[in-house]
Amino acid sequence: MEALTGASPAMMPPSGPAGQGTFYIETFGCQMNDHDSEKVAGVLLRRGYGQAASPADAQVVLYNTCSIREKAAQKVYSRLGLFNPKNNLLDATDKIIGILGCVAQQEGQRIFERAPWVSLVCGSASYSKLPAMLEQIEAGERRVTGLETDTEETFETELTRRDHPLRAYVTIIEGCDKTCTYCVVPRTRGPERSRTSASILREVRELADVGYTEVQLLGQTVNSYRDPSSRGLRFAELLVAVAETPGIRRVRFTTSHPSDLDAATIAAMDSVPQICDHLHLPVQSGSTRVLRAMQRTYTREEYMQKIEMVRAARRPISITTDIIVGFPGETEEDFEETLSLLDLAQFDGIFSFRYSPRPHTPAATMAGPVPEEERGRRLALLQERQRAIQTARNESLVGQTFEVLVEGASRRENQWTGRTSSNRTLNFTSPRSGLLGEYVLVRVTQAGPNSLAGEQAF
Ligand code: SF4
Repeated sequence: MEALTGASPAMMPPSGPAGQGTFYIETFGCQMNDHDSEKVAGVLLRRGYGQAASPADAQVVLYNTCSIREKAAQKVYSRLGLFNPKNNLLDATDKIIGILGCVAQQEGQRIFERAPWVSLVCGSASYSKLPAMLEQIEAGERRVTGLETDTEETFETELTRRDHPLRAYVTIIEGCDKTCTYCVVPRTRGPERSRTSASILREVRELADVGYTEVQLLGQTVNSYRDPSSRGLRFAELLVAVAETPGIRRVRFTTSHPSDLDAATIAAMDSVPQICDHLHLPVQSGSTRVLRAMQRTYTREEYMQKIEMVRAARRPISITTDIIVGFPGETEEDFEETLSLLDLAQFDGIFSFRYSPRPHTPAATMAGPVPEEERGRRLALLQERQRAIQTARNESLVGQTFEVLVEGASRRENQWTGRTSSNRTLNFTSPRSGLLGEYVLVRVTQAGPNSLAGEQAF
């Protein structure tokens, strides 16, 4: 499960009509979805489409959907409502309208019934067939679906449009073989399929050649990667191979499953400086009883053993996590165990959510739902406890110097925003100009719960 990033319209400037027309894509959900949209945009660019700034200006309108939040399907239907002739808002005539992602997989043909102006419904496990599906639509077919999940293929494209100017995402594994009871992913993204190491390393070399210095390896369970080629690289070996690519200075990866975290990965992080000193390791609950109900495949104690392995590294590695409060049947005692886990683990950041049932998941029909108000109370308590931990951890960094990759400039003169290898935001002052995309050393002078402040060190 991923930390949410919300909805993001395409970030590239419109390139105007080209070839066969223009497209608009809006993305909801996690980084995997963001990156899938980059690849879908690449497929369209390759076919001669240009990018439009709004659905009104586009011939192909795609919504890449997420069902991690409740009511996601309603949100998609409200977008589709824009094209309902009765509403008289946007004209669907001569447009190809498509729904991609988790909601497409879950709703399937129902989307055509409720929104007859849609012509493409495609789940992420079928994206490798997207070029063929587009061909069918361009040839005049009215409705095309890609809803199979029993695929062995991964979605590779000749061209991927990159939305982030400094960090490139690289999918190394798709789908998931775990069976967490609250999660839609195994149903919507299909079984685990790893890419060959040769294909991944080729993509990383190409990224380095065009100037990217930071790559983020993606997968729903990124660290269960197994190279399907005869080279047979394990995840830790792949990490090192990516890090050794000339020109690559930072390698990140997300999301790791605690059961798949091994000593070799921690050793690689400890010894290869290009591998960032940050690990996102979702725990979800501090109670073994709740972890069992979630089918998370580890106990509280086993999770803490992994944390201790990471903390024993010579290089400090920051650890962030995801936590769900108010899972069905979670008692006050279970919740107290989650709070005490925060104290023990000393996370550097958490993404916390109140449980919300997702359609067609085992947890959605489990006994003992926690009332909404109580879920809210627990979430607030959890966030308050973590805020104090983060403040203290960040304050301990005051006076230290870190290398940051400069990601933004503030409107105020001489103010910049950078990111440390440990994935902390560090706002800093510098008398220099033109720092965007540069690596600079910054001395921390102040700390808050969510970010650091400092000044460039010379
Ligand atoms: S590991 Fe669990 S939460 Fe993560 S994608 Fe797989 S089933 Fe979902």
